[in-house]
Amino acid sequence: MQGFIEIKGARVHNLKNTSLNIPRDKLVVITGVSGSGKSSLAFDTIYAEGQRRYVESLSSYARQFLGRMNKPEVDFINGIPPAIAIEQKVNSRNPRSTVGTSTEIYDYLRLLFARIGRTYSPVSGKEVKKHSVDDIVDFLASLPEGTKVIITSCGVIPGNIEVPEYFSFLIKQGFSRIETDGEIIKLDEIQSFEGFRAGECVNIVIDRLIISHTADNFSRAADSAQTAFQNGKGFCQAVILDDNGYRRENFSNLFEADGIRFEEPTEYLFSFNNPIGACPVCEGYSKIIGIDENLVVPNQNLSVYEDAIVCWKGETMKKWKERLIENAELFNFPIHKPYYQLTAEQKHLLWKGNKYFYGIDRFFQHLEEKKYKIQYRVLLSRYRGKTICPECKGSRLRKEAGYVKVSGFTIQELVSVPIGKLYSIFTGIALNEEDSKIAERLLKEITVRLKFLIDVGLAYLTLDRVSSSLSGGESQRINLSPPWGAILSARCTFLMNQALVSIPVIQICSSEF
Ligand SMILES: [Zn+2]
Repeated sequence: MQGFIEIKGARVHNLKNTSLNIPRDKLVVITGVSGSGKSSLAFDTIYAEGQRRYVESLSSYARQFLGRMNKPEVDFINGIPPAIAIEQKVNSRNPRSTVGTSTEIYDYLRLLFARIGRTYSPVSGKEVKKHSVDDIVDFLASLPEGTKVIITSCGVIPGNIEVPEYFSFLIKQGFSRIETDGEIIKLDEIQSFEGFRAGECVNIVIDRLIISHTADNFSRAADSAQTAFQNGKGFCQAVILDDNGYRRENFSNLFEADGIRFEEPTEYLFSFNNPIGACPVCEGYSKIIGIDENLVVPNQNLSVYEDAIVCWKGETMKKWKERLIENAELFNFPIHKPYYQLTAEQKHLLWKGNKYFYGIDRFFQHLEEKKYKIQYRVLLSRYRGKTICPECKGSRLRKEAGYVKVSGFTIQELVSVPIGKLYSIFTGIALNEEDSKIAERLLKEITVRLKFLIDVGLAYLTLDRVSSSLSGGESQRINLSPPWGAILSARCTFLMNQALVSIPVIQICSSEF
Protein backbone atom coordinates (compact mmCIF):
# COMPACT_ATOMS: atom_id res chain seq x y z
CA MET A 1 0.00 0.00 0.00
CA GLN A 2 1.48 3.34 -1.10
CA GLY A 3 1.94 6.19 1.37
CA PHE A 4 1.45 4.09 4.49
CA ILE A 5 3.43 2.11 6.98
CA GLU A 6 1.55 -1.19 7.14
CA ILE A 7 1.68 -3.14 10.36
CA LYS A 8 0.11 -6.60 10.67
CA GLY A 9 -0.18 -8.69 13.82
CA ALA A 10 1.90 -6.69 16.30
CA ARG A 11 2.15 -8.61 19.59
CA VAL A 12 4.88 -6.82 21.54
CA HIS A 13 4.09 -6.50 25.27
CA ASN A 14 0.46 -5.38 25.64
CA LEU A 15 -0.34 -5.33 21.93
CA LYS A 16 -2.86 -7.98 21.05
CA ASN A 17 -2.34 -8.87 17.42
CA THR A 18 -2.78 -5.25 16.39
CA SER A 19 -2.90 -4.37 12.70
CA LEU A 20 -2.98 -0.82 11.38
CA ASN A 21 -1.83 1.49 8.60
CA ILE A 22 -0.05 4.72 9.51
CA PRO A 23 0.01 7.47 6.86
CA ARG A 24 3.47 8.71 5.91
CA ASP A 25 4.59 12.34 5.57
CA LYS A 26 2.15 13.19 8.32
CA LEU A 27 2.36 14.09 11.96
CA VAL A 28 0.75 11.11 13.64
CA VAL A 29 -0.17 11.05 17.30
CA ILE A 30 -0.78 7.85 19.22
CA THR A 31 -2.96 8.38 22.27
CA GLY A 32 -4.51 6.05 24.77
CA VAL A 33 -4.77 5.29 28.45
CA SER A 34 -1.68 4.34 30.36
CA GLY A 35 -0.62 0.76 29.67
CA SER A 36 -2.57 0.49 26.42
CA GLY A 37 0.61 -0.16 24.45
CA LYS A 38 1.41 3.27 22.92
CA SER A 39 5.11 2.92 23.58
CA SER A 40 5.09 -0.77 22.63
CA LEU A 41 3.74 0.19 19.23
CA ALA A 42 5.89 3.29 18.65
CA PHE A 43 9.20 2.21 20.15
CA ASP A 44 9.23 -1.54 20.57
CA THR A 45 7.63 -2.28 17.21
CA ILE A 46 8.05 0.52 14.65
CA TYR A 47 11.31 1.97 15.92
CA ALA A 48 12.79 -1.45 16.69
CA GLU A 49 11.99 -2.72 13.20
CA GLY A 50 13.18 0.46 11.47
CA GLN A 51 16.40 0.29 13.42
CA ARG A 52 16.86 -3.43 12.77
CA ARG A 53 16.42 -3.04 9.01
CA TYR A 54 18.82 -0.14 8.94
CA VAL A 55 21.47 -2.17 10.77
CA GLU A 56 20.85 -5.16 8.46
CA SER A 57 21.56 -2.93 5.50
CA LEU A 58 25.05 -2.11 6.79
CA SER A 59 28.13 -4.12 5.86
CA SER A 60 28.97 -7.13 7.99
CA TYR A 61 32.05 -5.24 9.18
CA ALA A 62 29.97 -2.37 10.56
CA ARG A 63 27.38 -4.77 11.99
CA GLN A 64 29.88 -6.48 14.29
CA PHE A 65 30.11 -3.29 16.34
CA LEU A 66 26.38 -2.90 16.76
CA GLY A 67 25.29 -6.21 18.20
CA ARG A 68 22.37 -8.27 17.00
CA MET A 69 18.95 -6.76 17.02
CA ASN A 70 15.97 -9.00 17.55
CA LYS A 71 13.01 -8.84 15.28
CA PRO A 72 9.99 -7.47 17.12
CA GLU A 73 6.99 -9.76 17.47
CA VAL A 74 4.98 -8.77 14.45
CA ASP A 75 3.81 -10.59 11.32
CA PHE A 76 5.04 -7.94 8.94
CA ILE A 77 5.74 -4.23 8.58
CA ASN A 78 5.86 -2.60 5.19
CA GLY A 79 7.10 0.76 3.92
CA ILE A 80 9.09 1.80 6.94
CA PRO A 81 11.89 4.40 6.57
CA PRO A 82 14.98 4.49 8.85
CA ALA A 83 13.83 5.41 12.34
CA ILE A 84 15.19 7.85 14.88
CA ALA A 85 13.80 7.73 18.41
CA ILE A 86 14.01 10.66 20.76
CA GLU A 87 13.23 9.71 24.29
CA GLN A 88 12.64 12.00 27.16
CA LYS A 89 15.04 10.48 29.61
CA VAL A 90 18.34 12.22 30.27
CA ASN A 91 20.47 9.83 28.35
CA SER A 92 23.97 11.01 29.02
CA ARG A 93 25.97 10.04 32.02
CA ASN A 94 29.16 10.75 30.12
CA PRO A 95 30.84 13.67 31.91
CA ARG A 96 32.52 14.66 28.66
CA SER A 97 29.26 15.20 26.82
CA THR A 98 28.18 18.83 26.61
CA VAL A 99 25.43 20.72 24.82
CA GLY A 100 28.07 21.62 22.22
CA THR A 101 29.20 18.06 21.53
CA SER A 102 25.76 16.45 21.58
CA THR A 103 24.36 18.97 19.09
CA GLU A 104 27.47 18.59 16.88
CA ILE A 105 27.93 22.38 17.05
CA TYR A 106 31.22 21.91 18.86
CA ASP A 107 32.53 19.69 16.06
CA TYR A 108 31.85 22.43 13.54
CA LEU A 109 33.40 25.03 15.85
CA ARG A 110 36.57 22.94 16.09
CA LEU A 111 36.79 22.75 12.31
CA LEU A 112 36.13 26.48 12.04
CA PHE A 113 38.96 27.27 14.46
CA ALA A 114 41.29 24.84 12.72
CA ARG A 115 40.60 26.33 9.29
CA ILE A 116 40.38 30.08 9.89
CA GLY A 117 41.61 30.58 13.47
CA ARG A 118 44.46 33.03 13.96
CA THR A 119 47.07 32.45 16.63
CA TYR A 120 48.15 35.32 18.89
CA SER A 121 51.25 35.32 21.08
CA PRO A 122 50.34 35.51 24.78
CA VAL A 123 53.51 37.58 25.32
CA SER A 124 53.04 40.46 22.91
CA GLY A 125 49.50 39.85 21.63
CA LYS A 126 50.92 39.92 18.09
CA GLU A 127 49.49 37.57 15.51
CA VAL A 128 51.75 34.57 15.00
CA LYS A 129 52.51 34.17 11.35
CA LYS A 130 54.47 31.77 9.36
CA HIS A 131 56.25 33.90 6.81
CA SER A 132 56.88 32.79 3.30
CA VAL A 133 59.30 34.11 0.71
CA ASP A 134 56.33 35.99 -0.77
CA ASP A 135 55.79 37.83 2.53
CA ILE A 136 59.37 39.13 2.36
CA VAL A 137 58.98 40.15 -1.26
CA ASP A 138 55.68 41.90 -0.45
CA PHE A 139 57.35 43.72 2.40
CA LEU A 140 60.23 44.89 0.19
CA ALA A 141 57.74 45.99 -2.46
CA SER A 142 56.08 48.21 0.14
CA LEU A 143 59.31 50.20 0.62
CA PRO A 144 59.95 53.30 -1.50
CA GLU A 145 62.22 52.93 -4.51
CA GLY A 146 65.85 53.62 -3.76
CA THR A 147 65.68 52.25 -0.18
CA LYS A 148 68.76 50.26 0.79
CA VAL A 149 68.05 46.88 2.36
CA ILE A 150 70.38 44.19 3.67
CA ILE A 151 69.00 40.65 3.81
CA THR A 152 70.70 38.72 6.60
CA SER A 153 70.43 35.44 8.37
CA CYS A 154 71.76 34.57 11.78
CA GLY A 155 74.81 32.32 12.18
CA VAL A 156 75.60 31.10 15.67
CA ILE A 157 79.34 31.01 16.47
CA PRO A 158 80.00 27.41 17.54
CA GLY A 159 81.78 26.71 20.82
CA ASN A 160 84.08 23.97 19.56
CA ILE A 161 86.13 26.04 17.09
CA GLU A 162 87.93 29.40 17.20
CA VAL A 163 86.14 32.49 15.86
CA PRO A 164 88.60 33.07 12.93
CA GLU A 165 88.14 29.45 11.94
CA TYR A 166 84.37 29.91 11.85
CA PHE A 167 84.72 33.04 9.72
CA SER A 168 86.94 31.31 7.21
CA PHE A 169 84.40 28.49 7.11
CA LEU A 170 81.75 31.11 6.19
CA ILE A 171 84.00 32.48 3.45
CA LYS A 172 84.41 28.95 2.07
CA GLN A 173 80.62 28.65 2.01
CA GLY A 174 80.48 31.74 -0.20
CA PHE A 175 79.57 34.41 2.35
CA SER A 176 81.89 37.39 2.47
CA ARG A 177 80.21 39.95 4.73
CA ILE A 178 78.51 40.35 8.07
CA GLU A 179 76.35 43.18 9.38
CA THR A 180 76.48 44.89 12.78
CA ASP A 181 74.50 48.00 13.72
CA GLY A 182 73.57 48.63 10.10
CA GLU A 183 77.26 48.56 9.04
CA ILE A 184 78.66 45.99 6.66
CA ILE A 185 81.98 44.39 7.55
CA LYS A 186 84.00 42.27 5.13
CA LEU A 187 84.95 38.99 6.77
CA ASP A 188 88.48 38.94 5.34
CA GLU A 189 89.17 42.47 6.58
CA ILE A 190 88.39 41.78 10.22
CA GLN A 191 91.48 42.57 12.28
CA SER A 192 90.29 41.87 15.80
CA PHE A 193 88.06 39.02 16.85
CA GLU A 194 87.37 40.48 20.25
CA GLY A 195 83.69 41.06 20.71
CA PHE A 196 82.79 37.81 18.94
CA ARG A 197 81.96 35.07 21.39
CA ALA A 198 80.88 31.46 21.06
CA GLY A 199 77.12 30.99 21.26
CA GLU A 200 76.44 34.49 19.94
CA CYS A 201 74.83 35.28 16.64
CA VAL A 202 76.44 37.07 13.72
CA ASN A 203 74.28 38.56 10.98
CA ILE A 204 75.55 37.00 7.81
CA VAL A 205 74.84 39.21 4.80
CA ILE A 206 72.96 37.22 2.18
CA ASP A 207 72.28 40.08 -0.22
CA ARG A 208 72.30 43.86 -0.48
CA LEU A 209 69.47 45.42 -2.43
CA ILE A 210 68.46 48.86 -3.59
CA ILE A 211 64.71 48.68 -3.95
CA SER A 212 63.39 49.17 -7.45
CA HIS A 213 59.90 48.06 -8.29
CA THR A 214 60.83 45.79 -11.16
CA ALA A 215 60.24 42.11 -11.76
CA ASP A 216 63.99 41.43 -11.92
CA ASN A 217 64.58 43.05 -8.57
CA PHE A 218 61.76 41.11 -6.92
CA SER A 219 62.88 37.78 -8.32
CA ARG A 220 66.39 38.43 -7.00
CA ALA A 221 64.87 39.37 -3.60
CA ALA A 222 62.89 36.09 -3.60
CA ASP A 223 66.05 34.06 -4.26
CA SER A 224 67.88 35.87 -1.45
CA ALA A 225 65.00 35.40 0.97
CA GLN A 226 64.94 31.67 0.17
CA THR A 227 68.69 31.38 0.86
CA ALA A 228 68.36 33.43 4.05
CA PHE A 229 65.60 31.15 5.40
CA GLN A 230 67.65 28.04 4.59
CA ASN A 231 70.82 29.41 6.07
CA GLY A 232 69.15 30.82 9.18
CA LYS A 233 67.17 27.65 9.98
CA GLY A 234 63.86 29.34 9.31
CA PHE A 235 64.71 32.86 10.41
CA CYS A 236 65.88 35.88 8.47
CA GLN A 237 66.07 39.64 8.80
CA ALA A 238 65.70 42.58 6.51
CA VAL A 239 67.82 45.51 7.69
CA ILE A 240 66.39 48.71 6.25
CA LEU A 241 68.79 51.63 5.98
CA ASP A 242 67.43 55.16 5.70
CA ASP A 243 68.27 58.71 6.74
CA ASN A 244 67.28 57.97 10.33
CA GLY A 245 69.70 55.05 10.63
CA TYR A 246 68.52 51.49 10.37
CA ARG A 247 65.71 49.20 11.52
CA ARG A 248 65.18 45.48 11.44
CA GLU A 249 62.22 43.46 10.28
CA ASN A 250 62.15 39.84 11.41
CA PHE A 251 60.76 36.99 9.37
CA SER A 252 60.34 33.35 10.27
CA ASN A 253 59.00 30.51 8.21
CA LEU A 254 58.42 28.61 11.44
CA PHE A 255 55.17 29.19 13.35
CA GLU A 256 56.91 31.35 15.88
CA ALA A 257 56.71 34.66 17.74
CA ASP A 258 58.40 36.19 20.80
CA GLY A 259 60.76 33.22 20.94
CA ILE A 260 57.90 30.72 21.34
CA ARG A 261 57.17 27.97 18.82
CA PHE A 262 53.40 27.72 18.40
CA GLU A 263 51.36 24.83 17.28
CA GLU A 264 49.50 25.32 14.04
CA PRO A 265 45.78 24.96 14.76
CA THR A 266 44.26 21.59 13.89
CA GLU A 267 40.82 20.33 14.83
CA TYR A 268 42.44 18.09 17.47
CA LEU A 269 43.90 21.09 19.30
CA PHE A 270 40.32 22.09 20.13
CA SER A 271 39.12 18.62 21.14
CA PHE A 272 39.03 17.92 24.86
CA ASN A 273 38.37 14.28 24.02
CA ASN A 274 41.75 14.00 22.36
CA PRO A 275 45.12 13.95 24.15
CA ILE A 276 46.39 16.64 21.76
CA GLY A 277 43.80 19.18 22.86
CA ALA A 278 42.83 18.09 26.36
CA CYS A 279 44.06 20.07 29.36
CA PRO A 280 47.02 18.10 30.75
CA VAL A 281 45.97 18.59 34.37
CA CYS A 282 42.31 17.47 34.29
CA GLU A 283 42.66 15.46 31.05
CA GLY A 284 39.65 17.24 29.60
CA TYR A 285 37.25 16.57 32.48
CA SER A 286 37.20 20.25 33.58
CA LYS A 287 37.33 19.19 37.22
CA ILE A 288 39.96 17.70 39.46
CA ILE A 289 39.96 16.37 42.97
CA GLY A 290 41.20 19.15 45.17
CA ILE A 291 40.17 21.50 47.95
CA ASP A 292 36.56 22.45 47.32
CA GLU A 293 35.79 26.13 47.85
CA ASN A 294 32.17 25.28 48.70
CA LEU A 295 33.32 23.05 51.54
CA VAL A 296 35.85 25.56 52.86
CA VAL A 297 33.34 28.42 52.69
CA PRO A 298 29.94 26.68 52.98
CA ASN A 299 28.10 29.86 53.96
CA GLN A 300 29.12 32.75 51.74
CA ASN A 301 26.90 35.20 53.65
CA LEU A 302 29.39 35.18 56.49
CA SER A 303 32.41 37.45 56.68
CA VAL A 304 35.94 36.29 57.43
CA TYR A 305 35.50 37.70 60.93
CA GLU A 306 32.35 35.60 61.39
CA ASP A 307 34.23 32.41 60.49
CA ALA A 308 33.27 32.13 56.84
CA ILE A 309 36.41 30.01 56.43
CA VAL A 310 35.33 26.99 58.46
CA CYS A 311 38.67 25.22 58.43
CA TRP A 312 40.07 28.12 60.45
CA LYS A 313 37.61 27.58 63.30
CA GLY A 314 38.40 25.85 66.56
CA GLU A 315 41.13 26.14 69.16
CA THR A 316 44.16 24.98 67.18
CA MET A 317 43.30 26.36 63.76
CA LYS A 318 41.96 29.78 64.71
CA LYS A 319 45.48 31.19 64.81
CA TRP A 320 45.45 31.19 61.01
CA LYS A 321 42.37 33.41 61.00
CA GLU A 322 43.66 35.63 63.81
CA ARG A 323 46.84 36.34 61.93
CA LEU A 324 44.81 37.63 59.01
CA ILE A 325 42.49 39.70 61.19
CA GLU A 326 45.34 41.33 63.12
CA ASN A 327 47.07 42.39 59.91
CA ALA A 328 44.07 43.03 57.64
CA GLU A 329 44.32 46.80 58.12
CA LEU A 330 47.81 46.84 56.62
CA PHE A 331 46.49 45.82 53.22
CA ASN A 332 42.89 47.09 53.53
CA PHE A 333 41.18 43.75 53.66
CA PRO A 334 37.44 44.02 54.55
CA ILE A 335 37.17 41.37 57.27
CA HIS A 336 33.53 42.26 58.01
CA LYS A 337 32.28 41.94 54.44
CA PRO A 338 30.33 38.77 53.56
CA TYR A 339 32.47 36.37 51.49
CA TYR A 340 30.15 36.57 48.48
CA GLN A 341 30.61 40.37 48.35
CA LEU A 342 34.40 40.16 48.14
CA THR A 343 35.96 41.01 44.79
CA ALA A 344 37.70 38.30 42.78
CA GLU A 345 41.04 39.84 43.82
CA GLN A 346 40.17 39.79 47.51
CA LYS A 347 39.09 36.15 47.28
CA HIS A 348 42.27 35.33 45.43
CA LEU A 349 44.26 37.00 48.22
CA LEU A 350 42.45 34.90 50.85
CA TRP A 351 43.56 31.76 49.07
CA LYS A 352 47.07 32.82 48.16
CA GLY A 353 48.01 34.93 51.22
CA ASN A 354 50.66 37.67 51.31
CA LYS A 355 53.62 38.61 53.47
CA TYR A 356 51.36 39.40 56.44
CA PHE A 357 49.33 36.21 56.60
CA TYR A 358 49.22 32.69 55.21
CA GLY A 359 46.40 31.98 52.76
CA ILE A 360 44.01 29.03 52.63
CA ASP A 361 46.21 27.23 50.08
CA ARG A 362 49.16 27.40 52.47
CA PHE A 363 46.93 26.05 55.25
CA PHE A 364 46.05 22.96 53.23
CA GLN A 365 49.65 22.55 52.18
CA HIS A 366 50.47 22.49 55.89
CA LEU A 367 47.87 19.75 56.43
CA GLU A 368 49.35 17.77 53.53
CA GLU A 369 52.77 17.93 55.13
CA LYS A 370 51.34 16.63 58.41
CA LYS A 371 49.28 13.94 56.71
CA TYR A 372 51.04 11.19 58.65
CA LYS A 373 48.90 12.24 61.63
CA ILE A 374 45.45 10.75 61.41
CA GLN A 375 43.61 13.88 62.61
CA TYR A 376 45.15 15.91 59.79
CA ARG A 377 44.23 13.27 57.28
CA VAL A 378 40.64 13.35 58.46
CA LEU A 379 40.56 17.13 58.37
CA LEU A 380 41.96 17.19 54.84
CA SER A 381 39.42 14.69 53.55
CA ARG A 382 36.60 16.87 54.90
CA TYR A 383 37.46 19.64 52.40
CA ARG A 384 38.32 17.51 49.42
CA GLY A 385 35.94 17.48 46.51
CA LYS A 386 35.65 18.03 42.80
CA THR A 387 36.88 21.49 41.98
CA ILE A 388 37.22 23.45 38.78
CA CYS A 389 40.57 22.62 37.21
CA PRO A 390 42.94 25.49 38.00
CA GLU A 391 44.93 24.99 34.79
CA CYS A 392 42.15 25.33 32.21
CA LYS A 393 39.62 27.10 34.49
CA GLY A 394 37.10 24.44 33.53
CA SER A 395 37.41 24.97 29.78
CA ARG A 396 38.82 21.40 29.40
CA LEU A 397 41.28 22.52 26.74
CA ARG A 398 45.00 23.05 27.02
CA LYS A 399 46.05 26.66 27.17
CA GLU A 400 47.51 26.70 23.66
CA ALA A 401 43.96 26.36 22.28
CA GLY A 402 43.20 29.72 23.87
CA TYR A 403 45.85 31.47 21.77
CA VAL A 404 43.70 30.92 18.68
CA LYS A 405 40.89 33.32 17.86
CA VAL A 406 38.17 33.64 15.26
CA SER A 407 36.81 37.16 14.85
CA GLY A 408 38.39 38.12 18.19
CA PHE A 409 36.93 35.24 20.23
CA THR A 410 38.61 32.13 21.57
CA ILE A 411 36.70 28.84 21.41
CA GLN A 412 36.56 28.83 25.23
CA GLU A 413 34.84 32.22 25.16
CA LEU A 414 32.32 31.15 22.53
CA VAL A 415 31.18 28.03 24.37
CA SER A 416 30.50 29.99 27.55
CA VAL A 417 28.19 32.50 25.84
CA PRO A 418 24.42 31.78 25.91
CA ILE A 419 23.22 30.28 22.64
CA GLY A 420 21.00 33.30 21.87
CA LYS A 421 23.97 35.65 22.00
CA LEU A 422 26.21 33.18 20.21
CA TYR A 423 23.76 33.17 17.32
CA SER A 424 24.03 36.94 16.94
CA ILE A 425 27.83 36.70 17.12
CA PHE A 426 27.84 34.22 14.26
CA THR A 427 25.27 35.98 12.13
CA GLY A 428 27.17 39.24 12.50
CA ILE A 429 30.65 37.76 12.05
CA ALA A 430 32.93 39.83 9.81
CA LEU A 431 35.51 37.81 7.90
CA ASN A 432 37.76 38.65 5.01
CA GLU A 433 36.91 37.26 1.61
CA GLU A 434 39.20 34.24 1.79
CA ASP A 435 38.08 33.23 5.29
CA SER A 436 34.40 33.67 4.38
CA LYS A 437 34.84 31.30 1.48
CA ILE A 438 36.54 28.67 3.66
CA ALA A 439 34.06 29.07 6.51
CA GLU A 440 30.83 29.45 4.58
CA ARG A 441 29.63 25.86 4.91
CA LEU A 442 30.74 25.55 8.55
CA LEU A 443 29.03 28.80 9.54
CA LYS A 444 25.85 27.59 7.90
CA GLU A 445 25.90 24.32 9.86
CA ILE A 446 26.58 26.20 13.09
CA THR A 447 23.92 28.87 12.65
CA VAL A 448 21.23 26.38 11.53
CA ARG A 449 21.76 24.39 14.72
CA LEU A 450 21.92 27.45 16.96
CA LYS A 451 18.74 28.78 15.40
CA PHE A 452 17.05 25.45 16.04
CA LEU A 453 18.04 25.52 19.72
CA ILE A 454 16.68 29.06 19.99
CA ASP A 455 13.45 28.00 18.28
CA VAL A 456 12.90 25.20 20.79
CA GLY A 457 13.40 27.68 23.64
CA LEU A 458 16.96 26.89 24.72
CA ALA A 459 18.59 30.26 23.96
CA TYR A 460 19.68 30.55 27.59
CA LEU A 461 21.93 27.44 27.57
CA THR A 462 25.64 27.58 26.85
CA LEU A 463 27.50 25.06 24.70
CA ASP A 464 29.80 24.09 27.58
CA ARG A 465 26.87 23.03 29.75
CA VAL A 466 27.33 19.39 30.75
CA SER A 467 24.62 17.18 29.21
CA SER A 468 24.05 15.22 32.41
CA SER A 469 23.00 18.41 34.21
CA LEU A 470 20.11 19.10 31.81
CA SER A 471 16.48 18.48 32.65
CA GLY A 472 14.59 15.76 30.76
CA GLY A 473 12.77 18.29 28.58
CA GLU A 474 15.95 20.20 27.79
CA SER A 475 17.89 17.11 26.85
CA GLN A 476 15.07 15.84 24.64
CA ARG A 477 14.97 19.09 22.73
CA ILE A 478 18.74 19.01 22.36
CA ASN A 479 18.66 15.45 21.09
CA LEU A 480 16.35 16.60 18.33
CA SER A 481 18.99 18.92 16.98
CA PRO A 482 21.42 16.60 15.13
CA PRO A 483 18.69 14.51 13.41
CA TRP A 484 17.09 17.74 12.33
CA GLY A 485 20.27 18.39 10.38
CA ALA A 486 20.08 14.91 8.89
CA ILE A 487 16.53 15.44 7.73
CA LEU A 488 17.84 17.79 5.05
CA SER A 489 19.63 14.94 3.35
CA ALA A 490 17.62 11.85 4.29
CA ARG A 491 14.04 10.93 5.03
CA CYS A 492 13.45 9.37 8.42
CA THR A 493 10.82 8.28 10.86
CA PHE A 494 11.02 10.36 14.01
CA LEU A 495 9.61 8.85 17.16
CA MET A 496 9.25 11.05 20.20
CA ASN A 497 7.97 9.89 23.51
CA GLN A 498 6.15 12.42 25.69
CA ALA A 499 7.64 15.00 23.38
CA LEU A 500 7.50 18.75 23.66
CA VAL A 501 3.85 18.29 24.47
CA SER A 502 3.10 15.44 26.80
CA ILE A 503 1.79 12.83 24.37
CA PRO A 504 3.57 10.21 22.29
CA VAL A 505 4.08 11.48 18.78
CA ILE A 506 5.22 9.78 15.63
CA GLN A 507 6.20 11.86 12.71
CA ILE A 508 6.52 9.97 9.52
CA CYS A 509 8.53 11.30 6.64
CA SER A 510 8.24 9.89 3.17
CA SER A 511 10.31 7.75 0.80
CA GLU A 512 10.97 4.03 0.63
CA PHE A 513 13.34 2.29 2.93
ZN1 LIG B 1 42.00 21.37 33.13
